[in-house]
Amino acid sequence: MLLKELKCPGCGAPLKSKERDMMLACSHCGRISLFADGTVGDVSYSIAAPAENRSEELIYVPFWIVNADLNVKKESISGGRISRFITDRKQMRGTRDFYVCAAALPEDSCRKWNMDLTLDQPELTFVSGFKGAKRAVMTMEKGIAGENAEFLFLRYETEIPGTLQTLEYDFKINSTKVLYLPAYKINDTYILGISHE
Ligand SMILES: [Zn+2]
Repeated sequence: MLLKELKCPGCGAPLKSKERDMMLACSHCGRISLFADGTVGDVSYSIAAPAENRSEELIYVPFWIVNADLNVKKESISGGRISRFITDRKQMRGTRDFYVCAAALPEDSCRKWNMDLTLDQPELTFVSGFKGAKRAVMTMEKGIAGENAEFLFLRYETEIPGTLQTLEYDFKINSTKVLYLPAYKINDTYILGISHE
């Protein structure tokens, strides 16, 4: 395998890739770059503040935040229509952030987080650095995140009681960026611990 020398776009120091992590931290200036397709590039990322007073070890989990316009033009469902109204189900429509877990973590956790966070968008406060806390390895490419955001919508629509007969929609991605959310490992599961200040 031919390895190009990777350099930090911020300060030019050499970068080392390890553990398949697509997010490479510069040991010189601390900046994180995206490593994809054999090259290093700029990536916009932010870090959400962790909940306080937790004794478990903090680990930051990377998500792709896919901001997209979702315009449903036509949808018809046979049966189950009444239950749809009485369950007061949330609508996944309009412009919103789709949360797509980008870490190599258990599939079950990721699926649940993606749906919960996309439906109930959390209010976040941000911190400027990881302060020595671990980061979960990011393994998902940006393009795949966009596809997963669309799948998330489709999964949600097919969970409506009744049979989905027609669904016509436009899904337009406006921007994609990285967000680290704080999590804690309890036994073998991870739970998110976002600050609610
Ligand atoms: Zn650097």
